[in-house]
Amino acid sequence: MKEYRKAVTFSYDDGVTYDRRLIDIFNKYGMKCSFNLNSGILADPEKKRDWYYKDAFVNRPRVFDASLYDGHEILLHGTEHLHMLPLSKEEWDAEFLEDKKVLEKEAGHEIKGGAYAYGDYDERLEAYLQSIGVKFMRTVKTTKSFTPSADMLAYEATCHHNDAEVPELIERFLSIKEPETPQIFYIWGHSYEFEGNHNWERIEEICKKLSGQDDVLYGTNTEVFEYFGLI
Ligand SMILES: [Zn+2]
Repeated sequence: MKEYRKAVTFSYDDGVTYDRRLIDIFNKYGMKCSFNLNSGILADPEKKRDWYYKDAFVNRPRVFDASLYDGHEILLHGTEHLHMLPLSKEEWDAEFLEDKKVLEKEAGHEIKGGAYAYGDYDERLEAYLQSIGVKFMRTVKTTKSFTPSADMLAYEATCHHNDAEVPELIERFLSIKEPETPQIFYIWGHSYEFEGNHNWERIEEICKKLSGQDDVLYGTNTEVFEYFGLI
């Protein structure tokens, strides 16, 4: 079996209808993405009245179609997308333990990670998430590097898709030959940003350039992290 030392993975948040168009692009180029969803909002979009693009949540109002994410991956993003740090342990349970149960049932598989809503986290929250079986969480910090984060519960992506350095990062990633340690190109964002910024061609271009490499593993966050023994 071929051994990979390089991987590409994507992480997109909030579960909005534009995920459909994004998934079509990912599928066209053989890319795999982890989608960080909010089970409470998906079940009842009216709960977040001030939410931008509130009318764009997937399959509103009450049906959550997990099959949309077939071939990709569903991860945690908090039941109601709350700021976590001021909340109590009971509220954390409602936001994460509950989210995990609901989404695992919908997805039909164990969920091992996710992304912090608003990028909010601290050591207490990391310890709590570890205690309920969560193995990795993405922050909104970026490194412009392909070296995996040392702290998997505060994972820092390589870049956001809108980063000005994306073309240069792609070139740098593709030019790495047989690295000694795993190199992960990890890109994050929200599908509604492409719609809002009228730049769907940006993600199409990123996928096109990164696709078709023999020495690159294209996997969801969990697949990539498990493959390299990071979780
Ligand atoms: Zn979010």
